[in-house]
Parts: sequence; structure tokens; C-alpha cells
Amino acid sequence: MLTENPILTRPRESAEDLFTALDEALRKPARQQPDWADHPARQRTRQDLALLPPLTLPAEIDLLRTRLAAVARGEAFLLQGGDCAETFADTTEAHIRANVSTLVQLEVALTRCTGWPVVTVGRLAGQYAKPRSQPQDADGLPSYRGDLVNAIEPDPLLRQPDPHRMMLAYQHSNVTLNLVRALCGPGNFPPARLRALFAGFAEGSAAGERFAGLLAELDRGLRYTDRSWSRELFSSHEALVLDYERALVRLDPDHPGGPRLYSGATHFPWIGERTRQWDGAHLAFAAQLANPIGLKIGPGATALEVSEYLHRLDPHKEPGRVTLITRMGSDRVRALLPPIVREVEASGHRVVWQCDPMHANGEVTECGRKTRQFDRIVDEVQGFFEVHRLLGTHPGGLHLELTGEDVTECLGGAAEITPSGLARRYETACDPRLNGDQALELTLLVAEMLRG
Ligand code: PEP
Ligand code: MN
Repeated sequence: MLTENPILTRPRESAEDLFTALDEALRKPARQQPDWADHPARQRTRQDLALLPPLTLPAEIDLLRTRLAAVARGEAFLLQGGDCAETFADTTEAHIRANVSTLVQLEVALTRCTGWPVVTVGRLAGQYAKPRSQPQDADGLPSYRGDLVNAIEPDPLLRQPDPHRMMLAYQHSNVTLNLVRALCGPGNFPPARLRALFAGFAEGSAAGERFAGLLAELDRGLRYTDRSWSRELFSSHEALVLDYERALVRLDPDHPGGPRLYSGATHFPWIGERTRQWDGAHLAFAAQLANPIGLKIGPGATALEVSEYLHRLDPHKEPGRVTLITRMGSDRVRALLPPIVREVEASGHRVVWQCDPMHANGEVTECGRKTRQFDRIVDEVQGFFEVHRLLGTHPGGLHLELTGEDVTECLGGAAEITPSGLARRYETACDPRLNGDQALELTLLVAEMLRG
């Protein structure tokens, strides 16, 4: 049976209507915005950004839409990861290379061990704004809200929100994406480098022996991979600061279904747990964009609430239009996820189900460091797989905070990082990340889960 293409059969809207609807959306209340409404540089920076080229283009974003539609149909797997908060100081070749290398390594491990096509998305080139639970930090200073807003240094002046930082965030995103695109181009990421990374893990990690079979398979496959291969990697970040996000919206006048608005700030924006108010600006803003949209769903969300979000964000029921990024906690995922999955599946929306096993499994050590236990992270992923297996739905993806650098921010893993061991290299500007070895160990466990 021929089905109608929802993109081509939708009513055409004029460019003017689209921008009117966008501005109306942005008049709704928005949480977590920097306190800079009256700053003299605000309007000027927004105008300057609006004149600059977009960082991402409609055709790339449409390609990601087709990739995510395949995930939603149960034909592919979504891997998303990167820093909790990117920083301007870490816009270095070493850091970007380390994170991209790790993402490619995880993608190759997943796809080659399971046969599943993998769609890879970095938390990068724009992940510079953070929502905060408290307006002030433990020292009574205004909270650090990401390099796009203020500085991490504990100095009252530098903690004042500064709209100029939006321009810096754009520039840092631009140079990051430039290197990422180059690294993914033909020949710039030789399989030999990947083989060396896997060999390093096989020999250096205590988990090397446990996964010796899979690692040997990977090594054999890569030996015969053409050195001029290229990779496909999309960008994503939390669409939090609406002055920045609005300034980078661009019109695609040539879309076959009529003009469309795209975020030119990223391929894949997501809405965070703290800004998903049903009547708020973030949801209304995302609804106006043609980009695929991620939505974080925490333990407080009800099934009814989630289906109302989908009604707003996915009125045409396009497979993969929305990725529901569930973050329930290892102790609650098995109880809280099933009613949501049942309600959504019954509603006819074809979403990507993605597990974020990081954000509801945080804890604070006696020394006051934010951390997460590797075993709880694994347990939430395990619970996510169990629920989807039980309900016959596709456990479509994984959303991780990670870096390829050898940091010590999460506890456990094969290296058995202990609370006192966290001090060795605890560098995150916000939440604790898995290091390269921990991320690969988790991914190999997930590959086993996917193999069933
Ligand atoms: C994040 O992804 O860094 C984040 C803040 O997540 P959440 O909105 O799920 O708390
Ligand atoms: Mn985080």
C-alpha cells in the first residue's frame, strides 16, 4: 500500500508565518535563562550571530532525520556521547581528537560486534550551556552556567552572565566542527589508529581479557578496512539559552514541502529535564524546527505528559522526529519506563527510545565530588533493555557523558576507580564523564545485550 509522504502533504506555510510562530513560541516563559535581559551587549550579539553562516545545513539535518527514522523503525542503533559541558579551554586538537576517536571506536565496536547500523552523534560543537538546580554555588557565588554564559573561575565578576560569550561559543563550535568534519573525511582517521586503540584496551585494561573474543574479531575486521574510509558524525547539544538558539535559526526556502526553519546551531538539539515545561518556550521553540528533537524524560514524568509532548512535537507522526532520552535511575527504570513506553506506542508516534544512564545515577563522595558508579550505569542500561524486550519495542540508543581522555570521574569499571582515586584526574566542568576505557567497556557490554 502506498502511504502519503507527510512532508509533502502538509499545508505550506509562508516564511513570514514561520517566523511569526517562532517569535510567538519564544514569548512563552523560559526557565534557566541567563540573567542578562538588560545587558547592553545582548541585542547586538544576537544581531551579529543572526548574520553569520549556520554551523549545520538542512541537507545534513535531513540525512540525520532519515537515519533516526531507521532507528525508530527498529533497524538501527543511536550512539550519542561527549562532554557534559564543553569548555573554551578544551577547544584543543587533543581533546577534540580524543572524544571523536572514542565515539568512532564505540561505533565500530557496536556495529561490527552486532551487525546493527549505528548512527553516531557527538555532544559537541555547542554544548556550552548548563541548567543548574541552584542559582548559587556552595561558596555563595552565582552558579557557573556553562562557558556560553559565564566563567567557571570562582570570581564574582567573572560569574556575571555576559552575552558576548554567545559569540565565543559560536566561534568555538565552529572550529570544533571544522576539525570534526576533517577527521571524519576520507583518510584522516585511519583504521590503523583504531586498531591501536583497541589493542591498547586489550592489553591495558583489566576488561581486556573478558572481551578478548570480541576484540580479536574487531582487530581482524579492521586489518582489511580501506585506510581512506570516512565516518559520519552529527552534532548535538542541549538547546538551552534561547537568545543563542534563536539567533542561529535559518530558513530553508527550497524544501520540497515548502519553507522550513532549521536550527543552524546543531544537527540535533535536545530539551533538558529542567526545561521541558508543557507551556514553556523550549518545547514551543523546538516544535517550530525541522531538526529531529531530543527530549529528556526523568523519573517525575508521567505517561500522559509524555504523550502530550509528542502531540506537540510530532503532530505528523514522523518516525524518528522525536528521541525520548529516558533517565530514570538504575533503581527505578524497570518500574517507571513500562507505562511510558506502553502509552507512547499506543499513541502511534514512532519515537527513538534512548537510554541516558548517567543523569539519574549521580552521587556525591565524602570529599564533595560529584560522581557516578559504573555498575549503576550498566544496571540502568540493562533495565532499559529488559523493559524494551518485555514490551517488544526497540531499545534504540545510548546517551553517554564521556571523554576519550584518561580522566577519573566515575567510580568503578575494570580499573576499579575508588573514591580516593577520583583525585588523580578529575577535570570535568560539570558532571562526571566515563573515560575512554570505561566507555568502551560499557559499549562492549551493550554489544552483548544487542546480540541477545
Ligand atoms: C545533561 O545532559 O547534561 C543534562 C543536564 O541532563 P538532564 O537535562 O537530563 O538533567
Ligand atoms: Mn550532564
